[in-house]
This record gives sequence, C-alpha cells and structure tokens, in this order.
Amino acid sequence: MECSLVVVVVDVNPVWWGLQNGANDKGLTLFECMDHVLAFINSHIMMNQNNKVAVIASHTNESRFLYPGREADVKADDGGREVRDGKYEHFANINDTVQEEIRKLIVENPTVGHTDTLLAGSLAMGLCYVHRVQKACQAGQKINSRLLVIKAADDNASQYMNLMNVIFTAQKQSIPIDACILEKDSGLLQQACDITNGVYLQIPQINGLLQYLLWVFLPDPSLRETLVLPPSIHVDYRAACFCHRTLIDIGYVCSVCLSIFCTYSPICSTCHTAFKLKTAPVLRAKKKKKTSLPAT
Ligand SMILES: [Zn+2]
Ligand SMILES: [Zn+2]
Repeated sequence: MECSLVVVVVDVNPVWWGLQNGANDKGLTLFECMDHVLAFINSHIMMNQNNKVAVIASHTNESRFLYPGREADVKADDGGREVRDGKYEHFANINDTVQEEIRKLIVENPTVGHTDTLLAGSLAMGLCYVHRVQKACQAGQKINSRLLVIKAADDNASQYMNLMNVIFTAQKQSIPIDACILEKDSGLLQQACDITNGVYLQIPQINGLLQYLLWVFLPDPSLRETLVLPPSIHVDYRAACFCHRTLIDIGYVCSVCLSIFCTYSPICSTCHTAFKLKTAPVLRAKKKKKTSLPAT
C-alpha cells in the first residue's frame, strides 16, 4: 500500500506579511494564504484517503507544528471533534486545528525578536517528522514523503550553514524539497530544490497561490516526468560569506569548519581556529629529506 506525506512549511513572518498588506491591496493576508494552503491540503488528502499531511509555521521567534497539533497527539487522530455542517471529519479536524494553532502562535508572539524567518529550523522539524512517520509505518506500507516550503520573506544568509545541513540530509534520505516563492527569488531554496530534485517556482501572482499549488505541487513527484512543469531556472550557486552575508563567487574557506569569507582573516570567526601563516618550516623539512636520500 502506497501513500504520500506532504510536510508544508509556511513562512508566517509577521514583518513580511505586515508590509505586504500595507503595500498593496492585491496581495493576500496571512489568513487568506492559509485558506489556500488548507484547500491544497484537503485536495492532497482527497487524492488518497491514506495520504498524510503536516503543517509547520515558520515564525521569526519559533517554528511550530500547526497540524498535527499538540492536542491531536493526545486525542485519537480523527473523531476528536464534533462534526458540523456535514463536513468531512478529517478535513474539519485539519482546518480547525491549523486555524486555531496559527491564531495561538500569533497571539503568543506579539513582539518580533529579529526579522528573519527560522526556515532552517522548520525544515529540520519537517525532516524529523518524516522520519517519525516512516518509523511508525507498518510493514508493507510505503510512504513517499516530501517537503513543501511556502516562502514569503527574504533569505537570510546567516542560516546558510544550517540550511545546507538540512538540504543534504534531505538529499540523503531522498526527500524532495519543493519551494513555492511568494515574492523575491530565494537563492538558498533554489539550491535546496536543485539538490533534492524538488520543484522551485516563484509565482508571478500571489493571489493565484492555490492554482499554482494545485497545478505544480499537488501531483506526486513520481508523476512529474510526465507533466509539463514550469521550466527549470538557472540556479544561483553562489555561497554567502559569513562575515558580511553577501553572495560571493570567489572567497576564502576555513579548512576546519568550511566557513566562507570574502576577505582573509587570520582567525576564523565561526570556529575560532587561528591560522599560522608561516609555511616555510614545512618546505625546509621536505628539502632535507630529498637531499639526504641519495647520500645513504
Ligand atoms: Zn564578507
Ligand atoms: Zn573555521
């Protein structure tokens, strides 16, 4: 029996969503965006009743599971809530939990510590959840898992290393990372999708989010070869330097921790390794060996 698990990571960065709503009337509010995401999730479950889903909110202060919620762990998966309006219980359960949890998340985080989204942490949580589900699955059951990131705010190069670790873990476990970008292109996620064989799409119109989700991200990755998907983009493989967080083509790399710097510094600011500049003694020792060999 085969089924599919989609872990949706939604960027709920309050700074970006606040600016978005202030700037123009055409954009979505965060709650409208969540409605699109919920419609996508319901469609995913409609494809196969064994399909599974998880939703993680990526905030500036924390990453949190919106579904399965904290209460859902205690209660039975379904039937924990009463059914109203003849709605399919499973859909009602997911939608209510996600909406409730996101309200709680926003109310509990009134102040913003820093302005960047904790994307690497959310993706790591997603991978852990995939691992947990795969461990719990019964013999003979196969779960195809993938991550879908709905990204709003700009990249922050300070998360470069954490994100790269997550990306390579996903690649090793053959879990594709898909990215649906709401505004500016994300160099880090372009690399994530390219490395893990996921789909990267920067959507031209944010209010058509649901259409792009259903068209590009709903079909199972095994069907992708047969679909005409948006053409693959040129991936910006430049790395961000750790000192100024700018993208560079050529730089200096710490031989201990592989941190990247745009200018030379005798002490690595990441791992505090001090580099010795004197290479002369090593050369002298080599010369001595060479001259001593023919003499003996
Ligand atoms: Zn720099
Ligand atoms: Zn270092």
